[in-house]
Amino acid sequence: MNMVDIRAAQAAYRDELVAAGLLIPTGVDGLYGRSGVFEEVVERFDALVTRWGGADGAEAMRFPPALNRQYFEESDYLKSFPHLAGTIHSFGGDEKAHRTLLRRLEEGQDWTEDQVATDVVMTPAACYPVYPTVARRGALPDGGRLIDVFSYCFRHEPSIDPARMQMFRMREYIRIGTPEQVVEFRELWLERGRGMMASLEMPLDIDVANDPFFGRAGAMLSSSQREQKLKFELLIPVTSTEQPTACLSFNYHQDHFGHIWDIRTADGGVAHTACVGFGMERVALALFRHHGFDPAGWPAAVRKVLWG
Ligand code: ATP
Ligand code: ZN
Ligand code: MG
Repeated sequence: MNMVDIRAAQAAYRDELVAAGLLIPTGVDGLYGRSGVFEEVVERFDALVTRWGGADGAEAMRFPPALNRQYFEESDYLKSFPHLAGTIHSFGGDEKAHRTLLRRLEEGQDWTEDQVATDVVMTPAACYPVYPTVARRGALPDGGRLIDVFSYCFRHEPSIDPARMQMFRMREYIRIGTPEQVVEFRELWLERGRGMMASLEMPLDIDVANDPFFGRAGAMLSSSQREQKLKFELLIPVTSTEQPTACLSFNYHQDHFGHIWDIRTADGGVAHTACVGFGMERVALALFRHHGFDPAGWPAAVRKVLWG
């Protein structure tokens, strides 16, 4: 399939999902409502993740889908992914500026001139609020920390691909500790991720991957990330078999976040971090793709895994 065919397949699958009522269009690419059936699948998969990971004693944290702007600025996100970031702005003008805003709105012109940055930005990945939060607690305990998060995330990547949304949910486990603890965690979840998705009878492949670092310097960061095998993705065909969709990802950040926020292990070293991320919408879309739009008709074994 060439790019034109891949786009056509993406558009076709999106249209099918919309026609079936699973996704509710809003007029913006990548921004959808979800039906009750879609949400139930997301909830059942979320519960499945807990079944596989819940016994490890992770500490649950739930943040709103926005991040303290200061944390965001400190995180280096703007160095690597300025093109994906979403910042929250609000009207900051006086009454005169308000009249101008209304006039421009009326005339269909740009009205955003007096919008000013607030203290919050959209969360780009569910784990971002965790590192500065853990850092504030001081040095890690001997065993390090294991955190469980779930959040809507925003990325400015409008697409006709229904699997590439601008707002989507990510469940994550985050390991913070010594390099050994963190590498062991990632190995464990690579195996668990494979087992979990195989139990849902999904065709899958795990492969080395890279993040879409911005610009010319970004190309070097991407290839170094690949060479060091810092990121793996669990891929499932959703709109194309040649370009399968990353449904889970396994990321080793080395001491990147530990260094930025000065997170220390019990013995004083700079903490390493890793996370496993589950793309809730992508997993749901993969299930609908391979087992059909009506969960009542899914294979009995898959229904048993999800509904017990
Ligand atoms: P891709 O390579 O497809 O852009 P990614 O590498 O950006 O994916 P991560 O940053 O690792 O993905 O995010 C963790 C998980 O969140 C992914 O494994 C995926 O399941 C999900 N995800 C990422 N971007 C999107 C998106 N735009 N829409 C829906 N789910 C997404
Ligand atoms: Zn993460
Ligand atoms: Mg991406």
